[in-house]
Amino acid sequence: MSLSIKARFLLSVILVTGIVLLDAVLNLQGQKATGQLLREALSKNVSAMHLASGIKHDFVFYDDLTFRFLSTGDEALLDEGDRVRKKVTIRMERLEQESDSRTVKELLSELETESAIYFEEAGRLLAAASGSAAPGKKESILRVIRWAEQIPVRQKSMGLLSARGKEKLALLYALCDKLVDLNRVHMEDVQKQIGSTLEQSEKTILWGGSSVFLGIALIEILLAFSILSPLRELQSGIHKIMGGELNVEINPRSNDEIGQITRAFNQMTRNLREKQEQLLKETITDALTGLFNFRYFEEGLKAETERARRYNRPLSVMLIDIDHFKAYNDNHGHEMGNVILKMTAHALRETLRISDVLARYGGEEFVVFLPDTDKTNAQRVAERVRQAIDACQFPGQESQPLGKLTISAGLACFPEDAKLAKDLVGKADKALYKAKHLGRNRVELV
Ligand code: GH3
Ligand code: MG
Ligand code: MG
Repeated sequence: MSLSIKARFLLSVILVTGIVLLDAVLNLQGQKATGQLLREALSKNVSAMHLASGIKHDFVFYDDLTFRFLSTGDEALLDEGDRVRKKVTIRMERLEQESDSRTVKELLSELETESAIYFEEAGRLLAAASGSAAPGKKESILRVIRWAEQIPVRQKSMGLLSARGKEKLALLYALCDKLVDLNRVHMEDVQKQIGSTLEQSEKTILWGGSSVFLGIALIEILLAFSILSPLRELQSGIHKIMGGELNVEINPRSNDEIGQITRAFNQMTRNLREKQEQLLKETITDALTGLFNFRYFEEGLKAETERARRYNRPLSVMLIDIDHFKAYNDNHGHEMGNVILKMTAHALRETLRISDVLARYGGEEFVVFLPDTDKTNAQRVAERVRQAIDACQFPGQESQPLGKLTISAGLACFPEDAKLAKDLVGKADKALYKAKHLGRNRVELV
């Protein structure tokens, strides 16, 4: 899959935002869940503590009401006492519902049993002492006497309450205090839990943050690499071209903007290469005949002479000139003369070996060097060339002084005739002059 740079940037932004959001959501959810749990635990414990201390308060109040009734005989206090008892039962039920702890439940059941015994005993004593409210001024003598008779009963009840009752009450208070303490301990546990949860969430945030950072860094590195790597290849290609090396082709690895630039770059270097090759060909080629020009020939001959010297090999140079070419031009015109030059060049090329380097020397003259060819063999080649041109059917050649179009050739050989390239050509020219002098359409040696 190949994405454009723009699309890759967009994708990286989306990925980075996604990662950051995911991390934030996960952290928030975790914190929310723990917060919820801790809130619930705290509110349960606080409410349980309130209930437990409320129960204790109720016992204190109930005890106070009982004593006040026994000393005054006011039955309204009994009604108040009943209300308090009911409150105790309700609070204990609520405590039971709200508590999950086994220890609390056990304590509660003990409290229920003990409070039931306490209320039962207190109820019995109160029943015995009831109906003995203090008589008013207008009451009958009989009522006054009965009330007076009840005094020892009430005193006994009070005594009982202050002895056994106090003992029971102390137990009940202790149970309530225990309940409060238990819930306090639970609260402390919750507090510790909060501490460790906070520590845990700090670690989670730290790790989450580090992972997010690493994730983002990885995305950015991949993005940078995907852009910079092809850019570097392109840069090195440009450097090569600047250094004159045109044989550069870069693999366009993607279809993005850089891939398109790379393709354009490759096309550009291809065009440059073709132009350079064309230019090079033009600088070494003769425009009319398509043969090498003399400049190229000279360079080649120098190198070949060196090679022949180093490896002790023979080398021959042949200079060819069309006979009476001026006459042909005069008779048929310059254009037809050009046609003859092209035909001669073609025939020469066809007759010579591929390793023989043929060039246009200038005007109607051609020059060729024959690597690894001694005088005898060169003479054979030259004769073959002369015959080939002799046999060619050139248009309008009948008007030539010899009745046909012919060539003359002069030969010079390395190492016997000359040791230097330019001297070899000079010697071949001399031999050519000899051929002309001896009647043309012939090959001569120095
Ligand atoms: P010779 O047998 O002694 O070589 O006689 P020639 O007439 O061939 O020699 P000369 O040097 O007198 O004349 C050469 C002629 O070749 C003169 C010139 O007009 C002609 N020539 C040279 N270059 C070109 C060319 O490029 N095209 C044409 N058509 N003619 C050319
Ligand atoms: Mg000439
Ligand atoms: Mg000539």
